[in-house]
Order: sequence, then C-alpha cells, then structure tokens
Amino acid sequence: MQIQPQSLRPLPTYDDVIAAAERIAGAAHRTPVLTSRTADERTGAKLFFKAENLQRGGAFKFRGAYNAIARLPDDARERGVVAFSSGNHAQAIAYAGRLQNVPAVIIMPKDAPAMKVAATRGYGGEVVLYDRYAEDREEIGRRLSAERGLTLIPPYDHEDVIAGQGTAAKELIEEVGPLDMLLVCVGGGGLLAGSALAAQALSPACRIYGVEPEAGNDAQQSFRSGTIVRIPVPVTIADGAQTTYIGQKTFPIIRALVSDMVTVSDDMLVDTMRFFAERMKIVVEPTGCLAAAAALHGIVPCEGKRVGIILSGGNVDPKAFAGFLSGTFT
Ligand SMILES: *Cc1c(COP(=O)(O)O)cnc(C)c1O
Repeated sequence: MQIQPQSLRPLPTYDDVIAAAERIAGAAHRTPVLTSRTADERTGAKLFFKAENLQRGGAFKFRGAYNAIARLPDDARERGVVAFSSGNHAQAIAYAGRLQNVPAVIIMPKDAPAMKVAATRGYGGEVVLYDRYAEDREEIGRRLSAERGLTLIPPYDHEDVIAGQGTAAKELIEEVGPLDMLLVCVGGGGLLAGSALAAQALSPACRIYGVEPEAGNDAQQSFRSGTIVRIPVPVTIADGAQTTYIGQKTFPIIRALVSDMVTVSDDMLVDTMRFFAERMKIVVEPTGCLAAAAALHGIVPCEGKRVGIILSGGNVDPKAFAGFLSGTFT
C-alpha cells in the first residue's frame, strides 16, 4: 500500500466528528430515530433507535467512507481509492466514490455472494476478484496501489473513518437530547469509537457500552486486559462483527471513553431481528441487532433510563432473512 502520512496523524476528536458532519451533509441521509412502546414496556426504559439500516448503502459505513474520500487531496482523488471487503464497507466505498467522482476499486473474494458483487458493481465500483485460497488480497492491493497510485481506505482503523462514523450518534443526541446510556455494536470499533467521541461531548454523563457477538469477544478481552487480543475468525451470524481484533486507533479511544463491553448470543440476535420485523416493520441485519439485543435481553440493565441504540445496518440476504424469521436457520 501507499505509505500514508495520515498514519502519523493524532487520534480524532469530537471536532473531527463536527467537521465530518459538515462534509457528509446532503450526501448521507439524516436517518430517523425510531421508538417502540412495546420495546419500552419490555425493558422499562425509554429506547431511541438510530436507524442506520435506512442509511445510503444500507449501513452507517457510508458516513465514514464518504468522509474519508472527501478528505483526499485532489491528485489522490483523481487516481482513486481501493478497499478490500466483501461486506458493507465495500459497497460504501463504491457508492461514496461514485458520488464524488472518485474511481473505486474493490477487491473481493471470487466466492463472495453474487448479490454483494452485483451491488458493489451497481454502485459503480470496479470489482477485482481473487481466489482467497491461493492469493493474498493485500498483495493484490499493493500491486494495484503501486501500478495505479490508489489510496487504501480501511474499514475502521482510520481517523477520517472513525470521525465519519461518529456523526450518527451526534445526530441521535442532537435530536433526542442527553442520554443515560448508549449501546453500540463492535467489529473493529470504528462505529463505537466515533460514537463515544460524540456522546462524551454532547451528553457527558452518558455511559457507553460496546456490544459483541458471544462467539467473538476479542474487543471485550482487549478492553478488560488493556492490550489488543487476537482471536480466530468467530462463528456467528453477525457477519459484520467477525473481525478478529480491534483497531490500533479505535482501541485507545474506546478504552478511554467506554464504560464496558458486553456480549449477546446468536439466538438473541434472531429474536431481536424478529422483533424489528414484527413490531417495528423494519429489516435489520444480524450485526445491526447486537446493541438492541443487549437491551431487549437484559444484558445491560436499562430500567428507568433513556437509552440510545444504534441499528448499524440492514443488508441481509432475503432468503437468509426469511430463514431467521421462520426459525429455519442453522
Ligand atoms: C462494519 C459493521 C459493523 C462493525 O463496525 P466497526 O466499525 O468495524 O466496529 C457493525 N454493523 C454493521 C452493519 C457493519 O456493516
């Protein structure tokens, strides 16, 4: 990859979240905040759901991707950007690149779901497929970067990505007022770190919780031990949180501002997905249900509290979704 002078940049602060909000205004949706009397009765709390499943590209990732691309100098914009991902970050980079006339190359495994490859191409991304058993995607990335001068945009461990992700919590608190608690899902920690910057500035008494899948609690282990812990790829339906370690830039922010890290089971995620479909008529992908599951299943007791919950995304294959709803998933 191109050596980025950004790597020497200081960690982002709330000022960077404010600047990101200005950059993405008009491009990213200001997503609605949803409430549910049934959810409030079930928890004894007042829950505010920030619906990033309704964001452009179907997830909050559009915020960070758009902000990072908008920050590039002109020459880098002309050459383009590269990302490797088979998930929401790839689609976000392709989409944000197209809107800003910046070419985007997405490196995806040959066996990625056809729907995801099609969606990435549909958003205008140039997809480069690789054989994940025989080729190294970082090597391909380095080659493309050297040949074409593309700038790599990582999915979470990047100052502008973190600042962009923080704009969702900023909008939430500006809309509903101070919160007692904020629950946010964790993969590499970009969304949680950005959210924590916003919550600390706008609602200083708010306790911030990260929520991970039970099968992959690397962030919880890292948070409690104080050093970044690496784990094997976890087996969970929360595919957006299958990261095996938290970021080097996200971790210090999380350690400083977050109160605790908790975990929820896949069964709780399925129950929560059903709750959103039946009661609130919305599609939330398994990873997007992590934070809500912690509240609805009493993992984080929130009785009597005003609780912000980020629904991070809604990209789930319709067949898989039908299986989750009808109880036939395995
Ligand atoms: C990427 C993603 C996450 C995890 O975000 P991080 O910033 O890596 O912690 C959670 N939910 C969805 C829907 C995602 O796409």
